[in-house]
Amino acid sequence: MTLRTRFAPSPTGPLHLGHAYSAMLAHDMARAAGGAFLLRLDDIDQSRSRPHWAAQIETDLAWLGLTWDGPVLRQSDRLPCYRAALDALWDRGLLYPCRCTRRDIEAAVSAPQEGAPLHGPDGLIYPGTCRPEHPPRGPMPRDMALRLDMSRAAKAADLPTSPLTYAETGVAPPPPPLSPEHYRHGIGDVALARRDLGASYHLSVVCDDADQGISHVIRGADLAPATAIHVLLQRLLDLPTPIYHHHRLIRDETGRRLAKRDEARAIATFRTEGHSPADIRAMVGLTKLLPLARNTLGG
Ligand code: GLU
Repeated sequence: MTLRTRFAPSPTGPLHLGHAYSAMLAHDMARAAGGAFLLRLDDIDQSRSRPHWAAQIETDLAWLGLTWDGPVLRQSDRLPCYRAALDALWDRGLLYPCRCTRRDIEAAVSAPQEGAPLHGPDGLIYPGTCRPEHPPRGPMPRDMALRLDMSRAAKAADLPTSPLTYAETGVAPPPPPLSPEHYRHGIGDVALARRDLGASYHLSVVCDDADQGISHVIRGADLAPATAIHVLLQRLLDLPTPIYHHHRLIRDETGRRLAKRDEARAIATFRTEGHSPADIRAMVGLTKLLPLARNTLGG
């Protein structure tokens, strides 16, 4: 199989050492295998994405010595594809509109009789306030949040007889059995469309990885818990499941994961301070390339 991977940052701030590690790892793995490395801008959240950050991403990656194949894919150009995927799920009765705000959800799950609030890959597990007893009929609403009804989705994906699996070659623990219970109780009814965005990260990443023919998703271990959602959507939408390689996270000296606000560790800052791309590789511990295998390349 030709290795085809991607780096998919959101242009909402400067790239930092953690992004550099992710991009260099994916790039190096693709190049070592004679495969392809693609660049995609996760700019679906237009309220937070900025053209100057998008331009800066390309400048930073080029300075690091990375090259990408083909044109840069922008999620903001792909809303019709996400809409088509939502339509397909809606027509199968797997989505329902949701009017809850974050505050409504917090209030519902912190009611005394609910016990300790449960968290899934998307934060608080949705308590099901808007979930209808029967799948909604009629055309899909265009301007509302849409949630995936996990009980119906698990059944539609045939999980009771054919549980989901995927290959993990990075540092994330091997996936647990992806059973209907895991989806219902460990993940809950995730939002696949937001009122303001049209599509959520989970839906767009699945559509994009499939349309770009991604064979290996190489990304940070913070996204490992969301992979179960992606694999379920792939089965529901009849899309291939790539191999997942979740890598270790780059942390600051206090052990905290780097964030966009960490300007001090921004690639552009290191560049203006006179550091070289080789320095950046040394800082993240990515100096030599090992063959693709579990727990190699420093994860
Ligand atoms: N845009 C996501 C991020 O910056 C990455 C998505 C992915 O690699 O699946 O965290």
